[in-house]
Order: sequence, then C-alpha cells, then structure tokens
Amino acid sequence: MADLKIPFGLLGDKLVSPSEVTNGLKCNCVCPGCKKPLIANHPKSENRVKYFSHYVKNNCSNGYESALHLAAKRVLIEEKRILVPAICAVVDVYDKNTHIHETASGSFESKVITLNDVEQEVRDYDGVIPDIVATSNSKTIFIEIAVTHFIDDEKLAKLKKLQIPTIEIYLEPTSQVPTLEEIRELVVNTPHNRDWVVNPKLDKLKERVKIEAEKKLGIAVNYEMAKQLKFQQAHEKYLRLSDEDKLIYELKKLNKKRTEIESIIRENIKGGKSFGVSNHVWQLSIYRRFIHRKQGNLVEKDDVLEWLNKRFEIKPIFKDSPQIAIYYYLRFLNDLKMLEYNKYTGGYFVESDTTGNDFPY
Ligand SMILES: [Zn+2]
Repeated sequence: MADLKIPFGLLGDKLVSPSEVTNGLKCNCVCPGCKKPLIANHPKSENRVKYFSHYVKNNCSNGYESALHLAAKRVLIEEKRILVPAICAVVDVYDKNTHIHETASGSFESKVITLNDVEQEVRDYDGVIPDIVATSNSKTIFIEIAVTHFIDDEKLAKLKKLQIPTIEIYLEPTSQVPTLEEIRELVVNTPHNRDWVVNPKLDKLKERVKIEAEKKLGIAVNYEMAKQLKFQQAHEKYLRLSDEDKLIYELKKLNKKRTEIESIIRENIKGGKSFGVSNHVWQLSIYRRFIHRKQGNLVEKDDVLEWLNKRFEIKPIFKDSPQIAIYYYLRFLNDLKMLEYNKYTGGYFVESDTTGNDFPY
C-alpha cells in the first residue's frame, strides 16, 4: 500500500479531498496515516483524478487505508444516513422417529436508517475501538470499514460480547484514487458491500424462528403419532378377530362372495401354517394387495413377505416356512395364469384377476 496515491489528506483535523485545497505543498495537509506533509497533485488534464502524495517519500503503510476510514466517517457525518443490510433466519428441524421435517423463516429487509449522531472521537469500548460509532433511534451502532484489514477473530469476539449492532463495509474503491463522491456512494447506499457482524435482532429472530419451526414440528409429529396409534389400534383389533371374521373382512374389502374366491385358494400348502391364520385369510390378503385389479404389476416375493409380516404375527413352523409358503402360492397363481413368472426380474407379472380382466397388452 506504500506506493498508493493518498486520496485524502488532513487539513488540521478536517479530512479534505485534493480538489478542496491549493495545489502543491501549499495545501498544508498531512497524511492521515503517518501525519507527515503531503503535496496536492492537480493534474493539468481535467480527466485525471486529483490526489495527494507524501512530500518526502517514506515507508508509510496506512496512509491510504486511514484516508478511506476518515472519508467514510466524513460522509456519514454529512449524510446522517446509512443503508443497513437485510437479515434473514431459516431454521430446519427434524424428528428422528417420524422422519418429519419442518422449516420456518423470518426476515427484515435492508433499509436506510437515519443517523442522529456520528461520534467525532471514538472511545474504547471494553478493549475494542470501532472505526465509526453512530447513534440511530437513540441506539448505538458500530460501522467497521474494511479496506485491507478485515475484522480479526479477536476483535470479532469482543464485538460479539458487546452485543452492539455492527456493520462491516468492504471498501474496494472503484478507482485507485477514489473521489469523495465515490466514497459517499460506497459507504451510504451500496447494498452488496456490507454485512452484519453483530446483530442482536438477528439472534432474537433466529430464536423466534426456531420456536416457530419446533411448534410446527410438534403439531406434525403429534398428528402422525395419532395416525399411527389409530392404525395400530385398528390392527390390534383386526388381530383379535376370529379366523372367520378375518375372512369376512377380506371378502368385504374385495366385495366378493365366498364362492367367487374358492378357486384361488390353495389348501394343503407347504408352510401354510406360518402366518397364524387360515390359508383362506393369508392367501386372500396377498391376492387383495398385489393382484386384484392390478394387471401389469410386478409381484416380488420379498414385498409379499413384508406385507404379510405387517398384517399377521408370523411364526415359522420350520426354517424359511413363510418364504416357502409364499413361493408355492405364487406358483399356484402362475399355474392359474393369473401371474406370469418373469425370469429377468425373478418376480411375477399380474396377467389377470378373478374379474376376468386381462392384462391389456
Ligand atoms: Zn503517510
């Protein structure tokens, strides 16, 4: 930074741009960084930007950055307003048992606030010296100006502890020697170069949004649990039914008479006693779930076992007896030409059901 032209100088304690002072050493200005004399450079060409440079070259490293900090302060004192960034909070919550997700969000848009006061002399706030301290709506706000030095972790920790709203503005000047008007635009009005470093309102918003999301999740989870409980109670009631009543239940679901389904029941099937119900009941349950009005569907043995496991209390009567019973029943339906074995999938396609409707292609 030592070789950069100095965009602004100090005339007494006032920050000035080169066009506000006499050309040359007569400007009477000093460098905002090293406080050594500056000369104002007014190039002959109107198109070239005016700037300051050290009268005697030295290894001043912070003249440029200090000049921008003071220029930012000057324009805020003059303008008495600043654009503050938007804040937004999004919270996702999840329930492990029901796998339900809920999201809630809240935001405040960016807006221009009025600054009632911008402090000329910034004091030490518990070990941290902000670049600019202003008051808006009788509340203190810190404004940090970052040119090459961003807020470091130590300063950030101190700022967070203070809980005073803090904005950081990144000043990447539009030209090597920015004019005061450019600084004015960049500091006061530009939306994309600033962010909240500390914002107690955002913390509160996050808390509020979290509560909202958790409330929504609670309602969804309760609803799901009530649904599951109702389902479970209905299922327990079903399990307590006699075998005859279970058969009536299946027939009612199918809207069929007993005589209409006898042809699809296979008695004396190996492993058939594994499901705690009669052959009529478990076989009709398979038929209703996988075949009836499901022409074209693929029926796979594992899916059938999973279904029966949900419906009944399976107790194998020998090793793999439920799987064997399912295998023989599907083979039986295959022989009836209701199913057709598919060697590529290892499953069966539904060809027709007891309604006589064939698979349409
Ligand atoms: Zn200097």
